[in-house]
Amino acid sequence: MSGEHRLRRIVVAGGGTAGWMAAAAIARTLGKVVDLTLIESDAIGTIGVGESTIPPLVTYNRLLGINEAEFMRATNATFKLGILFDHWKDVGHRYFHSFGLTGKDHWSAGFQHFWLYGLEKGHHESYDDYCLELIAAREGKFAHLPDDRMNYAYQLDSTLYAKFLRGMAEGDGCKRVEGKIADVELDGEKGDIAALLLEDGTRIEGDLFLDCTGFRALLIGQTLGVGHDDWTHWLPCDSAIAVQTESVGPAVPYTRAIAHDAGWQWRIPLQHRVGNGYVWCSRYREQDAAMERLLANVEGEVLTKANILRFGAGMRQKQWHRNCVAVGLSGGFMEPLESTSIHLIQRAVLRIIRMLPLREISERDVNEFNDQQITDMVQIRDFLILHYKATERDDSDFWRYCRDMPIPDTLEQKMELFRETGLVFRKNDELFVENSWVQVMMGQGITPRSYHPIAEKLSDEELAKLLATIRETVARTVASLPDHEAYVSRYCATS
Ligand code: FAD
Repeated sequence: MSGEHRLRRIVVAGGGTAGWMAAAAIARTLGKVVDLTLIESDAIGTIGVGESTIPPLVTYNRLLGINEAEFMRATNATFKLGILFDHWKDVGHRYFHSFGLTGKDHWSAGFQHFWLYGLEKGHHESYDDYCLELIAAREGKFAHLPDDRMNYAYQLDSTLYAKFLRGMAEGDGCKRVEGKIADVELDGEKGDIAALLLEDGTRIEGDLFLDCTGFRALLIGQTLGVGHDDWTHWLPCDSAIAVQTESVGPAVPYTRAIAHDAGWQWRIPLQHRVGNGYVWCSRYREQDAAMERLLANVEGEVLTKANILRFGAGMRQKQWHRNCVAVGLSGGFMEPLESTSIHLIQRAVLRIIRMLPLREISERDVNEFNDQQITDMVQIRDFLILHYKATERDDSDFWRYCRDMPIPDTLEQKMELFRETGLVFRKNDELFVENSWVQVMMGQGITPRSYHPIAEKLSDEELAKLLATIRETVARTVASLPDHEAYVSRYCATS
């Protein structure tokens, strides 16, 4: 095969979490066959938030050959087993969305069907009691278990993560150029991007450009004019304030999402401090009042100046257009409720590597990438909307709006099928598996009206034994686990 048209020069525009995640992975996997350059501007800086992640990041780091303890030391990371949601269904109510599998997998029907049947038979133990990660999180415990039996993610400082990845990428041959991109030069004939022009006159040519310029979307949006789908009618929060505070208690292995009357607050414990933020809808709350609400609800002394951010939920209509791929915030943003942004970066980067053509880029590559990446984003969007729509709160205009808003048909179908039958299906390699949907739907107060008849195949004794065995195994395993904070200190010090 001729290498004449081979795509050889990849240029990453932007060096936030997106830029360096892309550069590190491409340099490690393809560093010997492509010429990789990253341009970033210290004067512009990065968004500086993004601390909570989900389990696929563990796999990503492993693919890159990262030593976990070294990475955790470098990013002040803790382990994360899920998210504790306070006041979402109603004021005073709380539930966990954990990363674990609840109960046992059965080919015919999810564990919820057996649990629902159990309720009818007088087994009133909570659905939570059947999930190892959930109970470990609640008790502040953690350890790595054999065969990856503990499914976890990290709570980390994403600025430090980008720095860590930068070291790797440069070590693997990525060229870093410091400077502000002042102009984008297009190829007159094809309309592709030909080169990026920096303020100091430097011209950087490329065959493929990754737009990692954050909300600016300098290449895909401002230059190529790819439009943006607006999802703010479904995800109305459009503002956030972030502050860091000192730690006042042991770092717990979970993130908190505490609902307030016009939005919600995050609390993310790292090794040395806590990340806090308030995400709110500016239609229902002024900035000063939002700031007051956040500061009244943080624990410990505030260590940083407030970082105020404005955004709108939505997605770039094409994630790959011509010879430009959007990675990170340039491709779209949905609020950080389920910690999905860094994950979407990871998915885009792995897809780029997997789909990198050996010939010139064709419409086939572009269409396939867009189809896969957009499917991911739409599925995540629906999962986030669920948290707002399935509320029983009636105490503010914000929550009444969320409760009464029309929702996408795809989500309506999922919620109603579950309400009627307890069934929920994972399609197209969806990020959030059946168990996540069940935990959140039941946590938000949607209780199925029926269950799968296969549950009734079990005799009363068999059912009681199945439920008791799972509960006891979870309880016994959690009892044997060390405290999370002590485990993190030991792990980071010795490995
Ligand atoms: P940025 O960090 O903005 O980086 C853009 C880069 O482009 C910078 O290096 C900048 O210098 C460069 N650049 C821009 N213009 C130019 C130019 N003209 N010339 C040269 N360089 C340029 N995600 C999670 O997964 N978990 C979370 O808990 C989470 N919390 C969040 C909370 C909030 C309130 C927000 C808004 C986001 C959160 N995110 C979270 C998302 C996460 O912060 C981002 O997805 C992630 O940081 C990636 O950002 P980025 O690299 O795309 O953009």
